[in-house]
Order: sequence, then structure tokens, then C-alpha cells
Amino acid sequence: MAYLGCAHQAPPPSESATAPATSPPPVEASAESAAEVAFAHPWMDTSLSPEERTRRLLAEMTLDEKLVLVFGYFGTDAPWKEYKAPPEARPGSAGYVPGVPRLGIPPQWQTDAGIGVGTQGSVEVKLERTALPSGLAVASSWNPEIARRGGAMIGSEARASGFNVMLAGSVNLLRDAYNGRNFEYGGEDPWLAGTMVGAQIAGVQSNHVVSTVKHFAVNDQETDRQAGNSVIDDAAARMSDLLAFEFAIERGQPGSLMCAYNKVNGIYACENPYLLTEVLRRDWGYDGYVMSDWGATHSAAAAVNAGLEQQSGWPFDEQPYFQGPLREALASGEVTGERLDEMVSRILRSMFAHGLFDHPVKESSIDFAAHAAITQAAAEEGIVLLKNQGGVLPLTSAIGSIAVIGGRADRGVLSGGGSSQVYPAGGNAVPGLEPLTWPGPVVYHPSSPLAAIQALAGTAKVEWNEGTAPRDAAALAKASDVAIVFVTQWTTESIDTEIKLSKDQDDLVKAVTRANRKTIVVLEHGGPVLMPWASKAAAIVAAWYPGTAGGSAIANILFGKVNPSGHLAATFPKTASQLAHPDKPHEGDVEYKEGATVGYKWFDKKKLEPLFAFGHGLSYTSFSYTGLAVAPSASGIRVTFEVKNTGSVAGKDVAQVYVAGDGWEAPKRLGAFQKVELAPGESTGVRLDVDPRLLAVWDSGAQQWTIAAGEVEVMLGESSRDIVARTKVQLPARTLPVRRPAGDVHVPSAAASERKP
Ligand code: BGC
Repeated sequence: MAYLGCAHQAPPPSESATAPATSPPPVEASAESAAEVAFAHPWMDTSLSPEERTRRLLAEMTLDEKLVLVFGYFGTDAPWKEYKAPPEARPGSAGYVPGVPRLGIPPQWQTDAGIGVGTQGSVEVKLERTALPSGLAVASSWNPEIARRGGAMIGSEARASGFNVMLAGSVNLLRDAYNGRNFEYGGEDPWLAGTMVGAQIAGVQSNHVVSTVKHFAVNDQETDRQAGNSVIDDAAARMSDLLAFEFAIERGQPGSLMCAYNKVNGIYACENPYLLTEVLRRDWGYDGYVMSDWGATHSAAAAVNAGLEQQSGWPFDEQPYFQGPLREALASGEVTGERLDEMVSRILRSMFAHGLFDHPVKESSIDFAAHAAITQAAAEEGIVLLKNQGGVLPLTSAIGSIAVIGGRADRGVLSGGGSSQVYPAGGNAVPGLEPLTWPGPVVYHPSSPLAAIQALAGTAKVEWNEGTAPRDAAALAKASDVAIVFVTQWTTESIDTEIKLSKDQDDLVKAVTRANRKTIVVLEHGGPVLMPWASKAAAIVAAWYPGTAGGSAIANILFGKVNPSGHLAATFPKTASQLAHPDKPHEGDVEYKEGATVGYKWFDKKKLEPLFAFGHGLSYTSFSYTGLAVAPSASGIRVTFEVKNTGSVAGKDVAQVYVAGDGWEAPKRLGAFQKVELAPGESTGVRLDVDPRLLAVWDSGAQQWTIAAGEVEVMLGESSRDIVARTKVQLPARTLPVRRPAGDVHVPSAAASERKP
């Protein structure tokens, strides 16, 4: 198998790849007293604002010191480039930016990524850390608090591992179902993705660790990933991919942003003035710094003047642009000294604002048991019960025998590949699967669903079949009361995926469903997959990549120890032909002709019936909605209603508000949502504000959001296709300020609901 165009793969040797001078010595512990430090380093006065501290520090810096801060090294040796990482870098890490000991500026130790602390595959010794469920799984929880808690947990592991920058916060839209990295992201809707990923970023940063929102922007496929050109018009981008970033940045306030590999409308994302200056700085007022993806810098002056502040991951670029070439551009006046000062100021300001100066990282121990509980809770809220015919789930004590088949469920649960790979404590449960090297290895977390099922099965006989011979598996299924078949889809950074399971696995499911009507299919997968056997399975469970404690989470859902409450963050098509991008991605120009009509919006507009709709997810209880009311509010609209648990067990409902107006890109948009937990018979009042941008269209001519005068329909539902109540509201014509006033950000929270017994 060939893996083309990836940052971490050994490319052909190149002369320009020789490393420039390595870093200065590490920061040394100082014996000076606090008062002496404050006198010598007035920027260490914590009563000053980050801006003032930055101003004072910058005034002391030499040109050489400024250039240190804008240039990042890969943190791991790359022998194929004859590159040795600076000795101060953390072994196996993504990146390292030296500090300036003379001024007490700490180094930036950078680690991947959004699922946990990753280790670059090229080192022998891996850090063993806690893995969250995939980004798509966390988004499917529709619970920002789950995302925040997960972010806080992985951020604390980053810090305990000696890192102060975490390359987490992945919010590219699931625009193309074939994208190999969909598992890292937050799904297909800008509001859901932005809300969930923003919450994760805030969690990471609660540890005095900078989080990096990425990959900016329209980086929606892996094919031709370092040269592909995403073609999309301004209005469509602002109402889709860019809007997801805008929401995530407002909620998470990430200290840094990573520009992407691809071009956008013909210009590399990392030297694209439209993206980095007009949208990010001018319109959104972003005050963090922009770092490049590893190998995504292509110039000095063009990149710097477009808005890039830090070249990352040397030696993945052709040249150390932000060293010698930048020095030359400064000498020739192509880049001004003011711009270099601005670059350094942005980096320093984020470092001050997020505590990198005041709370130096110190390696420390990790409470893995406590962290396993956090990732397990996230998996349990993100797993989606897609189908449950005849109430075959939850499994009860009346069941005498259970066949567990396939998916290596005897050993562990699958994870996604590439730079976000987290290596498990206890080692890979299924070593030796291809590919063994980048973007592999394929890693299973040692949390066996079979063992967890056995632990909960009571007196039921649980028998295992590995699923490699469909006939044997079917025989066992036939002899059992219920059959649980596990199927897997490995997806990874740097390669786009198939949106179906292997033929062997589809054949296995068909054979087992023929043998036993009570067959439950559990998917461990990166994103949407086709299910030609869907009508034959009694139950289908989307478990995504469920992380470190995934086996226990799956078993708890199957036995009803946890009531499922995940809802799809992405549409599952019946056939590939239904998709806006029905074929596998291609190289070169990729025209996003569907514009902002992404995911369920495309299915609604084209009147297509999906296999499972965006927002869909079943529970072991039922909910009812009453009293839907809507009124215009200061910034958008306010929606109120009541939710009641009408079933016999406690559960969590995801109430979804959709809005529809004339002249929009699609028949409806997700406007707001709230997850509520209710005991049987309990009801609660919910109050939600719809962000005005979700009631507007972007006017490219005037460069502003415009709300047309007229009627907006407000719908309340259990999914984008299960609308249970509708009402209307009349809105006056309005334009919105491009930049949101500080504090005017609606954060869904439990406080918005008033509980009633
Ligand atoms: C990925 C980034 C990652 C970086 C550092 C790149 O290949 O696209 O997401 O953070 O490598 O490992």
C-alpha cells in the first residue's frame, strides 16, 4: 500500500532538508528571588494584562530572539531527512519551539491531538495515554459538557507529559463522507461541530495549555492532501466550513489556529490573505497566532504577509522559510519589522493569556483510572442506537445464551490512524495489522467488549466466534438466543476511505442475520458506512472508535446499564449515489458545488431518504414535547418548550430546534439543541436562543450577514427527519455586525432548563 502526500512519511531525500542550527539550551531553573525576577523581568508581573506583558517583553527582544519564536521543529527524529530533533524536544512529539532563556520565555512543547496525547509513530517508545472516543463520537453526544470534560482530561495528560501546546480542536466539516479524517472532526453541521469542539478547546486550555483549532480551512479530504485545491465561493464557505470555525473559536478561545495543507480557491491556506487576514483577523477579530500544519508552509514573505505567524514541523517544508528566507525578506523590506513584531506579539500574548509563563509545565503522574471513567462516560453518551426492532435491546436476564462474533471483540476496540493516534496503556491489543508504519499502526485499545459482555451477562451463556468463517459464526448464532456481531472500519489521516465495510464483513453480517432474527450489529467505524444488511438486523449500534474504555461502554449500552443518548452528527446514506460527492475524492481542483448545502441540508434539498438521518438516535425510554413557543430576542430568536420522559426508565433526550427561512441554502438548519436528563415521568422546561447567523445569509457583496424580513419556521424534533412540533415567527429585516460583540455568545448549558418534578 502506498501512502502519498503525508507529512510523517519518508519522502525522497532532498538537499534542502538539512536542518538549520538547532535550538538554544533549555531554560534553566533560576535561583533568583521573585522580587529580583519581577525587577529584571517586568513582564512577569501577573497583575498586568497579557497585552501589556507582551509589550514589555517584546521591547527587550533582539531580532535573533524574535526569529526563534516563529520557527518550530518536528519533535521527533526524521532519519530520511537526515534530521535530528533538538534534544530539548519531548521524544516522539509533534513539535518544539525553543524558548529564550535570557528573558525567561519558555519553550513551546507541542503534542497531538484531539483524542488524547499522541506519539509520532516513528519512535520505538510510545507514551501510553488515555484516548477519548473519536471526535465524531463526542460530537454525537450532543453534550458540550462531555466535550469540555474530555478536553480537560486530555489537556491535563498533555501537561503531565510535559507539553504546553496541544494540537487539539479539529473542526473541519464532514462535507465528504469519504474523508479519512472524519473521525477526528465534529460532524456535518456548523453549530453542532463548533459548539462541541469549542467546548473541548476550553477544556484543554483549562490546564494552562494552548489548544490549536485546525485545519483552517475547507480541508475536507485527504486525497492530494498537500496540493489539492478546494474551490468554494465566499458566501458558501462563510455559511458552512468557516462558520464551524467561527463558532468553535468564539466558544473555545483557542490560543492558536493551524492553517491547512490544501489550497483554497487557488492559494495555499497558509499563505491565503482571504482566510488568514480578511476572515480570521478582520472579520472575526481573532487574537491568537496562526501556525502552519507540518509541511504546509510554502514561502516566507507571502505567508508572513498573508497572516502566518509560526512555521511548524521543520523539516517537513522545503525550506526553513521562517529562518534565513524571512531574515532576507526583512532585510529587503518585503516583510516589515512591524509585522515581525506583530507575529511575535501574537505568540507571546497567547502564551501569557493561557498561563505558559506563570505555570511552567512539569511532568507528573496521571490518574489513569479516573481518566478511564471520563472517556467511558464520553463513549457512553456518544454511542448511537440506530435501530432497535422489537425492543431486542437492552439485553435482559431472560436471555439464556449470547453469541459474540467478530471485530476482534475478544481483544479490544479499534481506533483511527495518523497523527492523532493515542497509544494505550497495556499495549496494542491486536498488534501486527497492516499498515505497520505511517499512517499506521492499526491500534486496538485493550478494552474487550466480549469480556465486558461476559461480566454483565449473569447466568447467560456467552460464546465467542472470531467471525472469519461465516458458516461457523452462523451456526453459533443459530444455537444462541441472540447474536452480537462486531464489524470494524479502520480510517486514517492521509488516506480517504471506502464508505462501506469489507465484503467479508458484510457477508458475515448477512450470514448471521439469516441464522438468527435477533442479531445486533455493533459498528466500530470512522464515519458513515453503507449497510446493505440494515433491514435484516434487529438492532444496530454505532460505537465509532470508542476509546480507552470502549468495550465497557458498549456492554453498558447493550445491557441498559446506560440508556443510549447519542444522536448522529452525520447523515448515513442508503447508497453512495445519494451523496453530494458520490465518488471517492480526486486530485487537483475539488469544486464544492453544493456550497453550504452540506450533509442533511443536501438530503433535505434533494428530497432524499437517508438510511439514518442527522440527529437520529434511539433511547430505551421515550420523550414528548409540549408548549413550543418562539419570540424574537435581542440577538436572534428565543425558543421555549417542555420535554417529558414518558417511558419507564431514566434517560437523556437531545431536543433539536431546526429553523427554516426563504432564500436559504437548504430547507432547514439546526438552530439550537439541548441535552436533558430526565427520570421517568419527569419533565423540564427548556429555553434556547438561536444564534442570529443561523437566521441570516452571508451577503458577499456587502460582506455582512443579512436577515430578510419575513417568516421563519421553527421546528422541534428528535432528529432532522423526526419533527414533532412547528411554529412560526416574524422577523424584521436586519444586518448583523460582522464581528460579534464580546460576551454575545450563546453557550448551551444546563442552566437554560428549568426542571419540573
Ligand atoms: C496533521 C496535523 C498534526 C500535525 C503534527 C499533520 O500531519 O495534519 O493534524 O497536528 O501533523 O503531527
